[in-house]
Amino acid sequence: MGRSEAQQRIEELKAVLWENSRRYYVDNAPTMSDYEYDQLMHELEALEAAYPEYATEDSPTRRVGSDLGRREFVQYPHQYPMLSLGNTYNIGEIEEFAERASKTLETGFTYSCELKFDGTAICLTYRDGRLFRALTRGDGVVGDDVTENVRHIANIPQQLHGDFPPEFEIRGEILMPYASFDRLNEQRARDEEPLFANPRNAASGSLKLLDPKEVGRRGLLCTLYHIPAQSLTFATHSQALDAAARWGLPVSEERRICRDISEIEAYINHWDTARHSLPYATDGIVIKINETACQVQLGYTSKFPRWAVAYKFKAEEALTPVLSIDYQVGRTGAVTPVANLEPVLLSGTMVKRATLNNAAQMALLDIRIGDSVYVEKGGEIIPKITRVELSRRPAGTVRPVFPTVCPDCGTPLVKEEGEAKFFCPNTDGCPTQAKGRLVHFLSRKAMNVIAGDATVEQLYNRGFVRTPADFYDLTADLLVSLDGWKERAAKRFLDSLSESRKVPFDRVLFALGIRYVGETTAKEIAAHFGDIDAVASATLEDLLAVPDVGEVIARSVRAYFDDPRHGIEIERLKAAGLQFSMVRKEAVSTALAGKTIVISGSFSVSRDEMKALIQAHGGKNSTSVSSKTSWLLAGTKPGPEKVKKAAELGVPQIDEATFRAMIDGGEPASAEPAREDPASEGEMNLFSGLL
Ligand code: NAD
Repeated sequence: MGRSEAQQRIEELKAVLWENSRRYYVDNAPTMSDYEYDQLMHELEALEAAYPEYATEDSPTRRVGSDLGRREFVQYPHQYPMLSLGNTYNIGEIEEFAERASKTLETGFTYSCELKFDGTAICLTYRDGRLFRALTRGDGVVGDDVTENVRHIANIPQQLHGDFPPEFEIRGEILMPYASFDRLNEQRARDEEPLFANPRNAASGSLKLLDPKEVGRRGLLCTLYHIPAQSLTFATHSQALDAAARWGLPVSEERRICRDISEIEAYINHWDTARHSLPYATDGIVIKINETACQVQLGYTSKFPRWAVAYKFKAEEALTPVLSIDYQVGRTGAVTPVANLEPVLLSGTMVKRATLNNAAQMALLDIRIGDSVYVEKGGEIIPKITRVELSRRPAGTVRPVFPTVCPDCGTPLVKEEGEAKFFCPNTDGCPTQAKGRLVHFLSRKAMNVIAGDATVEQLYNRGFVRTPADFYDLTADLLVSLDGWKERAAKRFLDSLSESRKVPFDRVLFALGIRYVGETTAKEIAAHFGDIDAVASATLEDLLAVPDVGEVIARSVRAYFDDPRHGIEIERLKAAGLQFSMVRKEAVSTALAGKTIVISGSFSVSRDEMKALIQAHGGKNSTSVSSKTSWLLAGTKPGPEKVKKAAELGVPQIDEATFRAMIDGGEPASAEPAREDPASEGEMNLFSGLL
């Protein structure tokens, strides 16, 4: 490869890797397998080594991928940087790692071999035995403060016991066990929300939710694997972890001390198969030099410790024939092709079906009934058909024809611009869609009405319910006239419907079943606009101002409200007494008219509720402090950067009590000048940091 070609390839690789890093860490929706990503990273490393003149400081080979996203979390600097790990898929390179270490180190040493947990990294600080702060890895230098969320993770102790030191940091991984992951994805499939590709993405997405209670419901777990040596001094890494276990912290019991490469190999070989019976995902083994003095001597690169390395397991794949292809219609009308496979065992689970996503994906694979296909669970991703084994294609197979009409109602399918899927446009008449919407409306996370799918089926088939508003017209007399209904069952159902009148606006918005508006998006939209009329009249531009709302969602919301039938349905639901605004109408005032407010820190209610209050009283929310900001509304632990900027620009800082006095019509207390948060003064020392 010539110099200019190399330079061009380096630039190309950097761009591809940064883009995929963002999809992986920020969107939690990778589109590339880890193996492919790692191969590209190794190609870039090799090119930069051969052409050092083109290696730049901003290269992904020198920096850890950042999870700092658009969501508003207060950020704090890490006391010691949180780095990544060098990785390999090749045992020969583990031998090279051991040889390099032996050459540098003068004393004997051992290895601590551990599972490489496939979740998202966390750094916990305990002060006087109490959990004080939890930060994500962020960009390695600063992390998002997710303490409130972490407090809802069941196996993280709030209080330690025994001879714990006054203050220390401990690092580990937040994991989503397979059972919780399957439950979450099943729910998301029912809600037609995009599925999480693997437990890692689900864990990291869940850790960044804005509602700590919801984090608690996601069934996350934590396992801790490292105490930075500066935080506490122990002679070995394993002694530090043994101590942590005594104080009540969750530390893996699967770690082993190995003395040489053959013991490391035996550990790797054991876990290569045994890991399939673990209840959570692992993607490799981490090999660490165990003696703290040796770790200090080996030190760090800007991205990795030199005293540890990860051996990664390659994704498993299996070859199996395609028996048939189904075309499933969802509640939004999207038609999804699904391949039925000859059952095959993969990573410990029997795979019988795999989604083919859409017509374009089917064409790309050139898949045919009777073909043998490779199914992969890359980094424990949901089974995915990666390619067809053409050498096994039976004679006489033909390309499957994607249906042109809805398999349920026979209406010609349509494909809108920018959409990958075909849709059945018969929104009201297609029974599968209509029933799907009704089931969704009643579901636990929506209106939480106690009713099974069979009830919906019966009420729909008998013609009593066509849209959600019809539920609120049902009477006990009518219900008991139906097969199988007793008075008690009818009362229970009607009581539950009556209870649903108290369900808050964001969940009602979710229950309406607007395409692409999942639970989280509905919360964001509800908090931003405050009531249904504001959402209904919002322009595309207004909608795009909502965090996490992009072009596709904004268009879908607009299309929903542009349909006059939905206007009628909402009026009927309003008349039935459902909640269509975040705050009670009588609370709205103009107390904050013309004021631009930036909020930071945590409050007695959620930040979304605070934002809704600002808007309800005529104020404007802004995310960054500028000379146009009227006040910085600071809760507990406000972001040090925002506090500093406000002080520099002379923007007054107010607290929650002052704010509430303002909106309650009381005299605003005199605004205090912003102060520096002592936490921002923490020194960063890159070269003394561990992992
Ligand atoms: P990594 O996941 O390869 O390894 C480092 C991480 O391992 C640590 O930060 C820690 O969180 C974790 N870990 C788990 N068990 C551990 C243990 N026992 N001891 C120490 N650490 C442990 O590194 P990374 O920097 O988080 O991510 C880079 C990797 O992510 C890439 O190699 C790639 O596989 C994947 N990635 C994939 C894509 C994609 O598009 N598929 C994009 C970006 C990154």
